[in-house]
Amino acid sequence: MEKKIALLKGDGIGPEIVDSAVRVLEAVAAKYGHTFEFTPHLIGGCAIDATGAPLPEETVKGCLASDSVLLGAVGGPKWDTLPGHLRPEKALLGIRAAMELFTNLRPAKLYPALAGDCPLRADIVANGFDLMIVRELTGGIYFGERGMREGKYGEEAYDTECYSRMEIERIGRVAFETAQKRGKHLCSIDKANVLESSRLWRKVMHELATEYPDVELSDMLVDNAAMQLVRNPAQFDVIVTSNMFGDILSDEASQLTGSIGMLPSASLGSTSRGLYEPIHGSAPDIAGKHIANPVATILSAAMMLRYSFGMAAEADDIVRAVDEVLEAGCRTADLAHGAPSMSTEEMTDAILARL
Ligand code: NAD
Repeated sequence: MEKKIALLKGDGIGPEIVDSAVRVLEAVAAKYGHTFEFTPHLIGGCAIDATGAPLPEETVKGCLASDSVLLGAVGGPKWDTLPGHLRPEKALLGIRAAMELFTNLRPAKLYPALAGDCPLRADIVANGFDLMIVRELTGGIYFGERGMREGKYGEEAYDTECYSRMEIERIGRVAFETAQKRGKHLCSIDKANVLESSRLWRKVMHELATEYPDVELSDMLVDNAAMQLVRNPAQFDVIVTSNMFGDILSDEASQLTGSIGMLPSASLGSTSRGLYEPIHGSAPDIAGKHIANPVATILSAAMMLRYSFGMAAEADDIVRAVDEVLEAGCRTADLAHGAPSMSTEEMTDAILARL
């Protein structure tokens, strides 16, 4: 297959970790007979420096003309004092909106080799865990009607949670299809004992379930889910939930895995084109030191192969190589706890050696 990949390296460690992922993608292309054409575009602070805007029009056009987009990270102290509309982070919302991405996929996997980095008790995570959170990204309370008004007790502020059947159905379909590709268990998380929007959410999920008989659907209230994630995270396969619940639960789940440098993410819309990025930021404190962990970005590239290009075997190959380097004891500084560690490039080399 031939695929065009837009590269948004961004700031801080962004260029280092995207370069690592590109090396891995090139190795996969060579092994499986694909051609990946990479085109870099500016985003974030480097785009502000070069063009005056965090998300230049040329970058948006380049992303929309590509088959998929790989992003490093944006931001840093140099741009922290700029006004809101000129902040590097503004570009993230801008590119997600321009690409009409309504789904956020965030896997949280605890590798048995890294069980010691998990804040949970050893017996709870003895076998690791591997779950996927499917979060609705463009609806709900973050986008609902809001305002200030005079109420019964004087000044008050309000935000509203509103979900249409269409929005629930389209995220639900992504979640059921994701579960079909994994362990075939889907847990829909809501607050249906209190919220009207959650009752519609639950109703629509159950209607959809009849179209996916191979997937076992269960419901869980969000307060219980927050508890179950720390009580027994291995019980989950795929979780689907609203924008705000997903925001909170995915951060909780990511902390259970030990290192922020390990976790990839994907944002998807109604086409196969997606935006793939590590969940961490630009880590300005370690930029240029060649010690950043490239794994989150390499696994983001693997997600691109799986979800945008339908290359499941190639994606599995990358995941296996990462598993093997961790089992072999390879560690970047963030996972080494002061013991000798590998540079970004050495870690990438170790993964390449196993592909
Ligand atoms: P951060 O994720 O950049 O860093 C938090 C801590 O984790 C730092 O100590 C950092 O060194 C470490 N870390 C992060 N990624 C790592 C990796 N791959 N390997 C090893 N260590 C890693 O968060 P922050 O410090 O709060 O933010 C720094 C900048 O990044 C800010 O400008 C922020 O706005 C921006 N940011 C961008 C994104 C994004 O681009 N999606 C997300 C979050 C934060």
